[in-house]
Order: sequence, then structure tokens, then C-alpha cells
Amino acid sequence: MRYQAPRGTADILPDEAARWQAVEAAFREACRRFGYGEIRTPIFEQTELFARSVGASTDIVQKEMYTFTDRGGRSLTLRPEGTAPVVRAVIEHKLYGTAELPLKLCYLGPMFRYERPQSGRQRQFHQFGVEAIGVEAPELDAEVIALGWTFLQEIGLKGVTLVLNSLGCPVCRPAYREALVAFLRPHREALCSDCRLRLEQNPLRVLDCKIDGPTPLVASAPRITDHLCDACRAHHAAVKAELDRLGIPYVEDPHLVRGLDYYTRTVFEFVAEGLGAQNTVLAGGRYNGLMAALGGPDLPGIGFALGAERLLLLLDEPAEGRFGAPAPDVYVVAFGAGAEKKLSLLMRLRAAGLSADADFAGRGLKAQLRSADRRGARYAVIVGDDEARAGRAAIKHLATGAQWTVAEEELAAFLAGRIASPNEKEAGDGNDAHVGNHAPNP
Ligand code: ATP
Ligand code: MG
Repeated sequence: MRYQAPRGTADILPDEAARWQAVEAAFREACRRFGYGEIRTPIFEQTELFARSVGASTDIVQKEMYTFTDRGGRSLTLRPEGTAPVVRAVIEHKLYGTAELPLKLCYLGPMFRYERPQSGRQRQFHQFGVEAIGVEAPELDAEVIALGWTFLQEIGLKGVTLVLNSLGCPVCRPAYREALVAFLRPHREALCSDCRLRLEQNPLRVLDCKIDGPTPLVASAPRITDHLCDACRAHHAAVKAELDRLGIPYVEDPHLVRGLDYYTRTVFEFVAEGLGAQNTVLAGGRYNGLMAALGGPDLPGIGFALGAERLLLLLDEPAEGRFGAPAPDVYVVAFGAGAEKKLSLLMRLRAAGLSADADFAGRGLKAQLRSADRRGARYAVIVGDDEARAGRAAIKHLATGAQWTVAEEELAAFLAGRIASPNEKEAGDGNDAHVGNHAPNP
């Protein structure tokens, strides 16, 4: 039996994980500056939560959820998205009453959807997202969009386009929905089988058909922006004016809809070149009815989620590092009587904040020195019979070959000092206090 990661999932190996850590850190840093606190919700939730919020007629709920029954007979679902769990937690912990509004929350983590795997589309994938709850003002829509924009700029993503639309509200959307159905119904036979169903259940989703793509039919369909009520039109205009003031470019797409039912008014996507059909990196919108629909107070909200795999595909720099492990600051080469000092030296170096590693395969001196090189270490610390007896360690700067000898107790501080120093002198000059020239004793 040969085991494999389940279809649609991927192992993130250490070289790749370093890239993940970099984009996660950049996202957290952007969120910090915009005032978002991190929230971590469970990986699974009651199935009802998603059925209620995402929408019973959506692809996610109809065919993409990983639902299971636990031993207690409860129906649970691996979270397919982050907004419903965050809103659930906000209601459960009454967070709206503990902080000034808007409540600003961000999250990072895995999501699960049973989809056809392809590049940029997995069954376990990762989203970075934000939710801002409790404020209706269009300035907040613009600020949330600006956060997504800022992050993508800072991470160095080129060629992204912000696409913007409004989906109206329960006042104006029903009339649009009727106009759309009236327009589409005579063309029913031209639609794919999914869209024929959508026509009855969720006609706006026909505009977002992943099978047919943007057809001439869809292009000539009625536009929701022609059907907005006064309040929604004013809101939409104010969001655009704010984006103009911020100098954030956008294109309007009156047929942009989102795959979840809870959106109202502003919806947006950041679309990238070079991802083929999976070209949306970041998507979001306003969800003014969701809190109330989930049993909370009737507070508005807005947020977005970004697909981390798609972002990393687009950034696509070569992975750093060798052999999957980060290059250590120090590689300890211990042999003979020095061997039993190996672990305690490593521990001292690490306690001083340095990354330190050593040979654990019982190899000889030469092989250990080769490892130090191959691993990309900056310094080798060499402890053989003589050094162990004298309570000293020899240090070699691997790039230049410069060497020092230092008392064991001072080793960590000496190396930490050199590595922290902005003008780290790479030549051993023998003039440092308590240091003398030394050639390691093979
Ligand atoms: P798509 O139209 O590509 O299926 P979606 O509308 O279902 O996306 P959202 O639910 O809005 O996507 O999720 C936000 C972002 O999460 C997407 O823009 C995308 O970058 C990412 N994403 C969604 N589904 C997947 C998946 N199966 N694999 C990888 N990333 C995904
Ligand atoms: Mg989808």
C-alpha cells in the first residue's frame, strides 16, 4: 500500500512553507496597521450554519461541502469559508458589545470544498480574510478594499484589476431579479444544465456561470446598476468616490455576482492575469442581512477572503533554501572528547537567539565540515579533543575562513554579537578580547 495525500490537498514542504510564512506575516502586518485583530474559529461547524448563511441554492451548499455525522449524531461540516464562522463567533461572544464599532477581525486558515481539483483550485485550500462589522458607511467599504489593495501591492503582485459592482438590497434586488428572469427565460435552452436550475432558484448566479463563461447572452442581460434603489445608488457612488480619492483604480462590471447568497450592495474582486480560469485572487463584499439571519442583532458587515494558493502561484519566486531546512547561523562540529558537548553548545547558542544545528549521524570531522558548508551555515563552531579539554571552542567564518578561539561560556554571546552587528567584520583579526588565532586540530 502506498499512501498519498488525498485528492485536492497538498503538502506544504519546508521550502514552500517559508514562502507561506512570508505572505502570512505580510498579511498580519497589513491587518495590524488597519486595526484588525486575529480570530481563530474551529475547522468544523454545525452544518446548519453554512446552509443558512452561504445559501441553500449555492454550489457550495449543494455540492461542495464536506459534511459528516459525529458519534453523537450531530451534522457537522468542515468550513468552506470564513465569514459565517466569524459572524457566528461575534454573535456567540457578543463581541459587538465589547468594542467600538466597526469590529475589525481577520483570519488565516484552511477551508474545504469538494471541487474538481486543478491549478489554483483545491479541496483543502487556504484563505486570508477580514470582516468589519457594525458600520454601514461607504467609507468602510473603501477602507476594506484599500486593505486588500495595500496588501497585494506590498506583497509585490503585479497586474491585478479591481472589479466592482453593487448587488442592491432587499428593496431593489427583487425587481432586478424579475427583470433578469424575464430576460433569460426565452433563452432557457441555450443555458447549461446548472444554469437552467439557477434560473429558478438563484438567477443572479447565471451571470457567474463557470461552465459557459461570459456569453453574449449574459453581456446583453439587464444590469443591476440600472435597478438600484436611491439608497443603494448613493452608497455605490460614495464607495467609488472614495476609491477615486484614494487613487485606487477599478473597473465596473454590472454582471459581477458572488457565489454566496449573503451579499448586499458592494461586491468586488481582485482579478489577476496568469491564473487561467482561476483568476480571482481576492473576493468580497458587504453582507448587511447576515448577522440578523444568524440570530444576532441586525448589524451590517463587509469583508473579503483571499485565496492563498492562488496568491503564491502568482508570486512564484524560486523557493529559497537547501534540503528544506533553513540555513543555520551556526553549525557545531563536535568530535572526540568534544562530542558530548554538542547538545549543550547547541542549546546555549539557541538560547542566545541563534539558529544552530549539528551532525546527528555520527559522521567524522571532514564530513561534518562539508555539512556545515552544504547547509549554508555562516559559522562553524569546532570542538575536538583539545578544545574540550581547554574549555574552549574554535570558530570559523565559512565564507572567508577567518577563525577565532573563544571560551565556551562566551561563545554564544560572541557569535550573537557578531551576527547582530551591522558591520560584522568577516576577517578574524585576532585582536578581539579573549580571542586568539587558532587552527582546528583535525
Ligand atoms: P471561484 O469563482 O474561483 O470558485 P469563489 O467565488 O467560489 O471562487 P470565494 O468563496 O469568494 O470564491 O472565495 C474567495 C477566494 O478564495 C477566491 O477568490 C479564491 O481566490 C479562493 N478560493 C475559492 N475556492 C478555492 C479553491 N477551491 N481552491 C483554491 N482557492 C479557492
Ligand atoms: Mg467556487
